[in-house]
Amino acid sequence: MRIDSPTTHHPGGPTISGLRTLDSLGDIDGLRALVRVDFNVPLADGRVGDDTRIRQSIPTLEALRERGARLLLVTHLGRPKGREPELSVAPLAEHLGELLDEQVLLAPDLEHIPDGPVVMLENIRYEPGETENDPALAARLAELADVYVNDAFGTAHRAHASTEGVAHLVERSAAGMLFEREVETLSAIVNDPQRPLVAVLGGAKAADKIGVINRFLEVADLLLLGGGMSYPFFAAEGIAIGDSLCDADGLEAARAVLANPAAAERLRLPVDLVIADRFSADAQLRIADPIDIDDGWEAIDIGPRTREMYVNTICEAGTVFWNGPVGAFEIEPFSHGTRAIAKAVAQTDAITITGGGDSIAALSSFGLADEVTHVSTGGGAALELIEGRPLPGVLALTD
Ligand code: ADP
Ligand code: MG
Repeated sequence: MRIDSPTTHHPGGPTISGLRTLDSLGDIDGLRALVRVDFNVPLADGRVGDDTRIRQSIPTLEALRERGARLLLVTHLGRPKGREPELSVAPLAEHLGELLDEQVLLAPDLEHIPDGPVVMLENIRYEPGETENDPALAARLAELADVYVNDAFGTAHRAHASTEGVAHLVERSAAGMLFEREVETLSAIVNDPQRPLVAVLGGAKAADKIGVINRFLEVADLLLLGGGMSYPFFAAEGIAIGDSLCDADGLEAARAVLANPAAAERLRLPVDLVIADRFSADAQLRIADPIDIDDGWEAIDIGPRTREMYVNTICEAGTVFWNGPVGAFEIEPFSHGTRAIAKAVAQTDAITITGGGDSIAALSSFGLADEVTHVSTGGGAALELIEGRPLPGVLALTD
């Protein structure tokens, strides 16, 4: 099921989260809008590879253009150490120009901003002060702006000069439409979900996502675990897991969760697992049911009974949040569990939200990315928002 705009506010009205939106900027005709976008896309042979991130900001850019603003776009690209020419945003400017059907001029640095309706500043991480949130850099950016718009939700968990510092220094600042949709959709999951709320969490390591696990054990009706992050829970219960992924941090996290009876009641763990004698496509496979794994074998996917159980739960949900593959899906024989989850998420009538680089890659590889209500661009920022951690980029745009 797909909803074009899951935002629940009416134009001009406040959002649930108190975030300032484009409407709040008022008359911007003829003004220069400094727009922080996340155009950190993969490049291949000096050209834009997957341009999803660029296309996702087009509605914001077009809305500002229609209101008469001149745009000064700011993005980072990669992690340059100094002015690495391979990480110039020139290919991004060219690509955006094609999408907008308008010339996008390149500003080589903050001192040389060409005059034009759409200008892109060179890689903001060429500036050493960017990631340090240097107030001097933020002030130089603010001087270039009549209004400030942030549409780079994927960087909202970092306080950088172009995402946080500058937002406080420009009199009128607001979230772009992509940023707004991310905040509203992700906040609604934890604040006002259509129930039952079912969270499906996977991935390699429990310790990476323990904050999100704990949050969903508070707010979700059921939390279904899979992937490497579920194995420490078996180990914590004294169940043999052979050579399956499990580290000390994960074990500690699992023990803490299981020690809380209210949390443990909402938690579902796999009831069977696919195990392999090595981590390779030509491995020998077996089903561990019940789960009791010999040394020399490791779990690599959820088993068929778990698949069915999880799929049924997803189909009965009102809202589903899915982050993290439930197996090593990159290897085809280990991908059946993740494929079953992805299909169920695509087919259920529930509101569905997916996030995480590998989960989105899995959805895309199964051809299902368009079947999900909201595919979050947020990554780490999305998980931190769900955890309830304050995101500096969001706070800077909130009254
Ligand atoms: P996302 O990027 O969607 O947030 P993660 O990065 O947390 O997801 O985890 C994805 C990775 O976890 C994938 O590379 C997948 O192969 C791996 N993974 C999941 N289950 C297992 C497993 N049982 N054994 C090895 N790797 C696994
Ligand atoms: Mg990942």
